[in-house]
Amino acid sequence: MYMKQEEAGLQQSFDRMLEEVRRIATDVAAPNATAVDAQARFPHETLAALREAGVLSAAVPPQFGGAGCNMLQLARLCATLAQACGSSGMVLAMHYIQLACLARHGPESDFFRQYLRDLVAHQYLLASMTSEVGTFGETRTSVCAVEIDGGRFVLNKDATTGSYCAHADAILVTARRNPQAAGSDQVLVLVRREDCTLAQVGSWDTLGMRGTCSPGFRLESAGPAEQVVPGAFADSSAQTMVPYSHILWSSLWWGIAADAVGRAASCVRGQARKTPGSLPPAATRLAEVSLQLQNMKQLWWSAAQAFDAAGVDAAARGQLLSMGWALRLNNLKIACSEAAPQIVQRALQVVGIPGYKNDTPFSLGRHLRDVLSASLMISNERIAAKSAAMLMVYKDAP
Ligand SMILES: Cc1cc2nc3c(=O)[nH]c(=O)nc-3n(C[C@H](O)[C@H](O)[C@H](O)COP(=O)(O)OP(=O)(O)OC[C@H]3O[C@@H](n4cnc5c(N)ncnc54)[C@H](O)[C@@H]3O)c2cc1C
Repeated sequence: MYMKQEEAGLQQSFDRMLEEVRRIATDVAAPNATAVDAQARFPHETLAALREAGVLSAAVPPQFGGAGCNMLQLARLCATLAQACGSSGMVLAMHYIQLACLARHGPESDFFRQYLRDLVAHQYLLASMTSEVGTFGETRTSVCAVEIDGGRFVLNKDATTGSYCAHADAILVTARRNPQAAGSDQVLVLVRREDCTLAQVGSWDTLGMRGTCSPGFRLESAGPAEQVVPGAFADSSAQTMVPYSHILWSSLWWGIAADAVGRAASCVRGQARKTPGSLPPAATRLAEVSLQLQNMKQLWWSAAQAFDAAGVDAAARGQLLSMGWALRLNNLKIACSEAAPQIVQRALQVVGIPGYKNDTPFSLGRHLRDVLSASLMISNERIAAKSAAMLMVYKDAP
């Protein structure tokens, strides 16, 4: 009975939060999306509104004061925001991925329990530094190492790509466990703004995802050793960072594609109003692209549901560490990152020149440029190579 009441309370607080995110998407993110993209600037207004509404702590478990949103709920929040501004959706997703690492792997330590409570109170924004000069997109290898002495850590890293690091309250940084450790023997370290200096290296003048503000950085940091996340990064990566990344990224790429199809649909409806009684020629292609959009949604929605179901079922939890689940997540990432640009491009075919222009209500340039990052963000080839190795021993049909 008590469980049911608690679940109903969490569902209600999620429904309210989704409503708030819809409002922020429409009233704040959408009107600023063009400027964010054109100026490659951080979506300050949107993040301020998300903070104000308490959305940044959605993934914090209720015992630390958060809304305790599950994977599907977080994915729906990211998808909703991305329909207005792809960069904002990506910032929210990346923040939730880092927050999930702390919420799922931190609570055995006093420091992280208090940090989660503080995050709820102050709505801290978390960034990520897994990439590194010399390892690029191979997140499971580090060159830099954390050094611990007298209860304090020192960690310096040259990251190739650090989204919104200059705007974040803290960064989760991967590093070798100590200077003698192998490249794959990594830990995750919470580096707070006040613990570090960041020197920007290079620029972030990209095709798309320009508002994520993701140049390279030289990080120099030092702080209390208790900020090293308990356990090995090998575990937090497999159990949390990879599933949250692939599912939340897929949901926000879908959000961008959904807005593109929405623009195409309103364009075709406008044509239909001019020729009552006959379907515009592009209407059939609109139907085709809406099918592809629905299929894409099904991929991330069902993966999120499977993840959430495993979370509450002890027997199923072990499946999240299986090769079959790892392959499913890899396939999800590759399928959604390939589908999103195809869907946006098909929407562009439906709209025609008004979509190709940058200044019409049907413009699709930003959408197309944003989703082109999807297959590069942890390169699909890199992921496919890992799946190929697993398929040498894994024999079940996917
Ligand atoms: C929008 C965006 C935001 C990002 N934000 C962050 C962030 O906040 N923090 C962070 O740390 N990183 C971030 N990244 C970087 C990202 O996580 C990877 O580090 C980056 O995508 C690696 O890019 P790369 O192409 O330079 O390197 P690589 O992955 O090394 O790829 C380079 C080339 O090598 C090929 N290749 C690599 N491995 C293989 C293989 N096994 N088989 C065949 N070909 C292979 C690739 O296909 C590609 O052609 C972000 C990236 C993007 C696009």
